[in-house]
Amino acid sequence: MRTVIQNGLVINSSDELRADVLIEDDKVVALAVTGSELASSWTANADKVIDATGKYVLPGGVDAHTHMEMPFGGTVAADTFETGTRAAAWGGTTTIVDFAIQQKGSSLREGLDAWHAKAESQCAIDYAFHMIVSDVNDQSLKEMDTLVGEGVTSFKLFMAYPGVLYSDDGQILRAMQRAGDNGGLIMMHAENGIAIDVLAAQALERGQTDPKYHGVVRRELLESEATHRAIQLARVAGSPLYIVHLSASQALDEVAGARNMGLNVFAETCPQYLYLSTEDLAKPGFEGSKYVCSTPLRPMEHQAQLWKGLRTNDLSVVSTDHCPFCFNDQKVLGIGDFTKIPNGLPGVENRMDLLHQGVVDGHISRRRWVEIACATPARMFGLYGRKGVLAPGADADVVIYDPKAEQVLSAETHHMAVDYSCYEGKRITGKVETVLSRGRVLIEGNAYHGRKGDGAYVPRETCQYLT
Ligand SMILES: [Zn+2]
Repeated sequence: MRTVIQNGLVINSSDELRADVLIEDDKVVALAVTGSELASSWTANADKVIDATGKYVLPGGVDAHTHMEMPFGGTVAADTFETGTRAAAWGGTTTIVDFAIQQKGSSLREGLDAWHAKAESQCAIDYAFHMIVSDVNDQSLKEMDTLVGEGVTSFKLFMAYPGVLYSDDGQILRAMQRAGDNGGLIMMHAENGIAIDVLAAQALERGQTDPKYHGVVRRELLESEATHRAIQLARVAGSPLYIVHLSASQALDEVAGARNMGLNVFAETCPQYLYLSTEDLAKPGFEGSKYVCSTPLRPMEHQAQLWKGLRTNDLSVVSTDHCPFCFNDQKVLGIGDFTKIPNGLPGVENRMDLLHQGVVDGHISRRRWVEIACATPARMFGLYGRKGVLAPGADADVVIYDPKAEQVLSAETHHMAVDYSCYEGKRITGKVETVLSRGRVLIEGNAYHGRKGDGAYVPRETCQYLT
């Protein structure tokens, strides 16, 4: 099967070029200057020719932070691996890295096997796993080594959610030491959960039960304090560190300071922190629950700092933390008690578009868009070369993107299995037109042509910034 994508502007993180792309079966095999004799010779014996005149041709998006069908607070995230990965494809994302969870009292192996079973033959696009370590002990530390060998090369720890996913500083230090030895990357949910739980209980005692108090008690200082502490622990352990879903500018200052010292400290933010704020959390009635996630949304003035961080590379990845809960039967579990609102937002379908809007609005360049959404997440999590770049030898995960198309984001038209959109009514310039995953057409002509099970599990190398 030979496919040629012609006349488009190929955008990689490294450069932009007017080139045709030749795909054989599941791989990109060559790029050639559009209109050249070589490129013209390809179309003659191609099985399929896609005209990308006026369009961008991008490597498929890599979303390094999703939670499909994740159990949380007595309910389960609304997107399954089937619906969530299909929605991702609609939005131009062709690889996700989801989080397998170790339950307290059981092994990493049991957790990872459970997530493999959930995802197996369900996914529309390729997928990989990080491992959430919620019970650091002698056995789970040994298992970390095994998992690195199996392509699960990153481990998430929580300074939040005491009694559930929380690890104390000693456990964090031990896991970091292990990662320092086995090449794993420690990912940190950096919020001081012990202090947050005290403030939350005090708020409830005062009768402050509305969704907005979720943001009030999860203080910015408790994010920056935890970020600082995580960085110091990583220095002591001699391990690299990746801060997930950074939202407070004070936490960004901690990351920037560490990076200025030359430390292997990295951070991601998410579209919701770039576009939404505490004003959304404070919407009347129970509407604010739609915006409850952790770390929480911050006041509007943080957004400019986060965009700046994306330009300076103190923030190097944008992931979604996609973890949707329906408003009508899940978010309502927290009526009368904000601490019972399931934490998480839908977003896997909107990331590429919202970041392209950042290009349109002048926050970042086109190449930086591809870098933070495709190339860097691939490199950070050991997928680069296969994913995150359009080059000979790469998987033929390709997005043809119309930079001029207009669309309005809405729950009416999105493909995520959730009954609301955080961006209802928002106008966006730019839209995914065609999506290929390993050479197969998933999206074309505003229709879905894939099947569940098209997506394969992808074992990962270790972080490619450290080798
Ligand atoms: Zn998450």
